[in-house]
Amino acid sequence: MAPFTSPLAEELAPELLERFLRYVRVDTQSTRDRTQSPSTPGQLELSRMLVDELKQIGLGDAELDEHGYVMATLPATGNGDAPTIGLIAHVDTSPDESGTGVEPIVHRGYDGAVLSLPRNGAVLDPAVLKELAGKEGHDIVTTSGDTLLGADDKAGVAEIMTAVAYLAAHPEVPRPTLRVGFTPDEEIGHGATLFDIERFGAVCAYTLDGSKLGELQDETFTAAEAIITVRGVETHPGFATGKMVNATRLAGEILAALPADLTPEATADRQGFIHVYEVSGTVGKAVIRAIARDFDDDLLEQHIALLRRTAEEVVAAEPRARLDIDVSHQYPNMRTYIERFPAVVEAAEEAIRGEGIEPVRTPIRGGTDGSRLSQMGLPTPNLFTGGHEYHSVREWASVQEMAAAAATIVRLAGVWAKRP
Ligand SMILES: [Zn+2]
Repeated sequence: MAPFTSPLAEELAPELLERFLRYVRVDTQSTRDRTQSPSTPGQLELSRMLVDELKQIGLGDAELDEHGYVMATLPATGNGDAPTIGLIAHVDTSPDESGTGVEPIVHRGYDGAVLSLPRNGAVLDPAVLKELAGKEGHDIVTTSGDTLLGADDKAGVAEIMTAVAYLAAHPEVPRPTLRVGFTPDEEIGHGATLFDIERFGAVCAYTLDGSKLGELQDETFTAAEAIITVRGVETHPGFATGKMVNATRLAGEILAALPADLTPEATADRQGFIHVYEVSGTVGKAVIRAIARDFDDDLLEQHIALLRRTAEEVVAAEPRARLDIDVSHQYPNMRTYIERFPAVVEAAEEAIRGEGIEPVRTPIRGGTDGSRLSQMGLPTPNLFTGGHEYHSVREWASVQEMAAAAATIVRLAGVWAKRP
């Protein structure tokens, strides 16, 4: 028998999988060149679908606002004294990998071997993907090898939809008033930007946007972005002697001078990093886009200072070149804001344990909508979804773990229903 965490999870699994497979087929990739919210029309397509489905479930006030945010209410059962609790997931997928033409494949009763995908020779090897090892017996959903899956965060969307549908159909199961929120553009750091916390009206919320079974995250990176622009002197290469200043070569020198041990691929756990994620250049102008991350505000400032100093030293050696560095802070470590409301994390721990899972308290090496929502006044830790290897063609999800997440939401409702 497939390893479900509870009979409730097993009961929720078929509907959950059906929803998940439907949602991942909608191309909701967001774009960093955002001129409106949401940044891409595909997100609206899924959001409209979700509004229709929420109404069918019985959340009659479901609506999509002008910025692409879906909100809906499931009223409390019982005396209604419990606080209003939010459930949040994001509809967009990462700009880092294609989300066009996602064709999910369900590998029933995974046998523990290497999974070969039909396109691009993509494989999921449990010897490489540690999370996949030990998932024998699970139903594993993968891509076809040439797109991401979009379990980040359609696993979260499907889990919230399934849990809410279950609760709406089972008024005998205790629940507080639940507010559902689906956000656009989380992957480009704008999920919380136009989120109307007042209208949402919850005292706290949970994002379903984590990964492995049992994860409960109340700590994220603190994050900044730096855009470094180098300007050179453009000339015809045939008449360049002593005149040309090649901005792209200078950008290359800056990249080479950055420490190799302060990168995402060379750090882990609580270490921060500098990550150059995009470079473009001509002779006249080169642009380096980088992010800096850490759990500690002071260390984040040190990473930014290092980036700045490195660029300044390289460019200073060529007096005819010019340098611009534009640093912006993106989101804070949410722990500062969440630890003021211990009940938020306590309730989640109780719900996860109620599902027979030991909570895993790991800091997120990234951010979530919850980072900024918590700062804005809505304490929002993050819960697991059962999706793995996000932002890649090797992205996969376990049906059993997704079902455990949906069941955990149902239990979370029960925990809050008891709290005055
Ligand atoms: Zn996500």
